[in-house]
Amino acid sequence: MKQAGQAGFERIESWLNSIFGSRNNPFYHLGALSFFFYFIVIGTGIYLFIFYQPSVSGSFDRMEYLSREQWYLGGVMRSVHRYASDALVLVMVLHMLREFCLDRYRGARWFSWFTGLPVLLLVFPIGITGYWIVWDQLGQFIAVRSSEWLDWLPIIAEPMARNFLTNTSVTDAFFRMMFIVHTVLSIFLFVAFLVHVKKISKSDINPPRTLAIGTLGSLIILSLVVPVFSHARGDLNVAPTELQLDWFYMFAYPLMDVWSMAAVWALAVGVAFFIALLPWMPAKPQQHLAEVWLDECSGCSLCVADCPYEALAIQPRTDRHPRFPLEARVIAANCVACGICVGACPSSTPFRHTRELRTGIDLPNRNIQQLRGATLQALEILTGSPKIIVYGCEHAADIRRLEANGVAAMALPCVGALPPSFIDFALRNGAAGVFVTGCRAGDCRHRFGNTWTEGRLSEGREPYLRRVVPRERLRVFWAAQSDFPKLECELELFRQRLADSPGNTFKPSQNGLELT
Ligand code: SF4
Ligand code: SF4
Repeated sequence: MKQAGQAGFERIESWLNSIFGSRNNPFYHLGALSFFFYFIVIGTGIYLFIFYQPSVSGSFDRMEYLSREQWYLGGVMRSVHRYASDALVLVMVLHMLREFCLDRYRGARWFSWFTGLPVLLLVFPIGITGYWIVWDQLGQFIAVRSSEWLDWLPIIAEPMARNFLTNTSVTDAFFRMMFIVHTVLSIFLFVAFLVHVKKISKSDINPPRTLAIGTLGSLIILSLVVPVFSHARGDLNVAPTELQLDWFYMFAYPLMDVWSMAAVWALAVGVAFFIALLPWMPAKPQQHLAEVWLDECSGCSLCVADCPYEALAIQPRTDRHPRFPLEARVIAANCVACGICVGACPSSTPFRHTRELRTGIDLPNRNIQQLRGATLQALEILTGSPKIIVYGCEHAADIRRLEANGVAAMALPCVGALPPSFIDFALRNGAAGVFVTGCRAGDCRHRFGNTWTEGRLSEGREPYLRRVVPRERLRVFWAAQSDFPKLECELELFRQRLADSPGNTFKPSQNGLELT
């Protein structure tokens, strides 16, 4: 199921890439869009609050005034408030589904998954109370049904549904209370958002400007074309017959007509528990986390800057080194063993003439000594010409399938785990070319692996690939699993160019990096 989901997402994203480009692909910014919609809801909510009156008759009248008299501003604000709330649910559910299908929720990443659930669960009572406090027929329906549902729990002494027996039993005080609940939960939601991104460094909470402007513009246009209006005024003497449910928030309400309240509770609690426990069903196998080798660590903090998971810190030296006052420290609970820190460490150079190659920080089971050994061995036994070494991420297109005459593939936990000096090393030890690949641009499994790699290879981020390295013998191409045919084609082009005109510089293809 996960694989089918991954293939589905890759296909949709490929299509969105061709329309919006990878930078503005909304599927690559679902988390940031959640923040964005939240802020739109808060901003428009503040405007509505200025006019809102939390009372039985005032609540409906004030919303009607905004929608009908002040339609050009208040009406638009109300509609944007509603549509952004719906969009918030949509992007959050998509975000969760995508992380699940791409297996980005287990191991050390459980925390973000687990804390994402309260974020999702908080959105629903906020949305429901938002409908409730308008007190039209939809609000009335929500109030009655929700009260009956909550009353099933034996924790409220006075049944809440009693407040909705007759029109006279509905009080202004109750509206004030519901309004406070709506507001306070919205503030809690922000706190929940912050906790959710706590273990992610440089969290993506702002969508790119073009995407943000386009999204906001779409909401405004939708609000003008299909403005939101209330149903008829709430009246407990009249049973609502025709309701336009907001399915993003009210998908469970029709169930209450056919199931018992106990069954609806069981479903809600069961689904919530199931989602919360998914990271351990099954748990990710124990990983070999990054380790610092103090003898090789200068405390430069490049690894800290590049780690995507807040898994590294700089602290005062523990070995009284005479020259370096600081050292790196791994925060084991956050480390996902992506190896990006290894690619960032200036000590990760294969050129040293030591029997045991060590660097400042390394993955114990996939260290740079092994990578150097594998590179040298491949170059020694490769037959065919030109010889090409492919370094690639094991989570992107399967590079092992590229191995053929003259081509050897080295899989890494992330393309960001490749120290740039290995490209130089491979070229100096007999490779005619080096081909680097990993997840699609804008969507790295380990968040920044492909971005940092592009920076390192184009002298935009330390450690740099040395300027003397002939760029025409390097090709970078990003490809997801389903992009394998394109990857194969790109490698073949590179191979032909190396064979035909080894001295020429190359023109970049659409998905490639211009390095000439
Ligand atoms: S392997 Fe390195 S970069 Fe990756 S999470 Fe662990 S410490 Fe951070
Ligand atoms: S990048 Fe290497 S040398 Fe610099 S602090 Fe990290 S482990 Fe130490």
